[in-house]
Amino acid sequence: MTYPSDLFAGEAFGVLGLGKAGLAALRALTAMGATVTGWDDREPARAAAAAEGFPIAEPDMARISALVISPGIPHLLPKPHPVAARARAAGVPILTDAELLYRAVRKAGSKARFAGITGTNGKSTTTALLAHILETAGRPVAAGANLGTAAISLPLLPDDGVYVLEMSSYMLERIATLRFDVAVMLNLSLDHLDRHGDMAGYARAKRHIFDRQTAADLAVFGIDDDYARAMAAEFGAGPARVVTISGHDPRADVHPLGTKLVDAAGEIIDLATTKALPGAHNAQNAAAAAALAAHLGVPRAAIAEGMRSYPGLPHRIETICTVAGVTFVNDSKGTNADSTERALGCYERVIWIAGGMAKAGGAEPLVPWFDRIALALLIGRDAPIFARTLAAHGVPYREVGTLENAVAEGWQAARAGTAPVVLLSPASASWDQFTGFEQRGDRFRELALAIAAEEG
Ligand code: ADP
Repeated sequence: MTYPSDLFAGEAFGVLGLGKAGLAALRALTAMGATVTGWDDREPARAAAAAEGFPIAEPDMARISALVISPGIPHLLPKPHPVAARARAAGVPILTDAELLYRAVRKAGSKARFAGITGTNGKSTTTALLAHILETAGRPVAAGANLGTAAISLPLLPDDGVYVLEMSSYMLERIATLRFDVAVMLNLSLDHLDRHGDMAGYARAKRHIFDRQTAADLAVFGIDDDYARAMAAEFGAGPARVVTISGHDPRADVHPLGTKLVDAAGEIIDLATTKALPGAHNAQNAAAAAALAAHLGVPRAAIAEGMRSYPGLPHRIETICTVAGVTFVNDSKGTNADSTERALGCYERVIWIAGGMAKAGGAEPLVPWFDRIALALLIGRDAPIFARTLAAHGVPYREVGTLENAVAEGWQAARAGTAPVVLLSPASASWDQFTGFEQRGDRFRELALAIAAEEG
């Protein structure tokens, strides 16, 4: 199915920020018959859009009906972008492309449903897992937004289709008519406070995911942190049906019991039979996906089947290979201590590759997990910061500079019996040595697979 080419005929939009999402918006809106103007402060981005034939100019507020703005550009805090400020002053709505997707789908006459996923951690996993469950159950699905494909580039789905959208707090501040049939708020911890002022502002942005829900809809809340729990209590009175989820708490409607994921009707699945959902944090993600899928009409057995065959996302506690009893695990997405904690929690004894550009606090929050580290191999700019913390707690470590050295030394030590797992979970950003966490994880995968090939 494709969108009619005159769907937005007669409407004009400005697009601010011509990165991947902005360009996608220009292309899609043009294909739907709208008049568009693109703008970006960076000349190379303007040139790239101009080369595709798009008109480039600062949007004229008198002529556009809405300004579509990239998630990375602030319209409020810490300081509104001047174009966004002009839009606000002129009363022009500032929208995210997920809002335009919703309008396009409805305008094209499709009754496809919308699933919204937000939270501080676990958004991508829950989005990918729910999409996989729906797909294996034979439902037409399109997944994207903050993860992967820009929302506006997703195809038109038929009435029984489901859009699974990963929504960041920035995107949620910019929806106006989008109503999610099912939505989840996984968890809420300190993050992005520069953009939302304080925790209350961040929570306020996140709760927009439940705006406009009706009694026919489902609102799912994690109850493993104070903020999300408070939000669940607040929404308890409806109008949407509320389901609570947890990675460990039996008071939640859906929660793990031993290795089993259960709800009021009993066992949903034994999580030990899944290949890519290790740890209590993934039990929370699985609980969320189960609740959402059930409300979308997926039979219980099909939910379990989808979880079992879920392949996992790269760079998130991703098992690369096992060579001579040594397992290489890529958790390059572990860019802060909170996230690395989940990875360390999955293994009894590891050789830990860490370091890069450390976050505030460095490895300090990981001290409770230090007894699992047989040897730490430190790379990147802030290796000395990690070294100090490890030394203070008597954990063996070596500063080895590069990821190449770390994998080679990790393999030698593991083969000698130091620990059965070589885990890359840096608790640091990667920008000092890589273009991003993806490149760092891809390099780790290459190095581990080269060892596997050599060992035959
Ligand atoms: P996001 O898209 O929100 O960044 P991901 O699904 O990409 O989340 O997971 C990123 C990292 O966050 C994972 O590697 C894991 O360490 C951690 N994580 C995943 N799910 C959860 C959760 N439900 N609660 C806490 N931490 C989580």
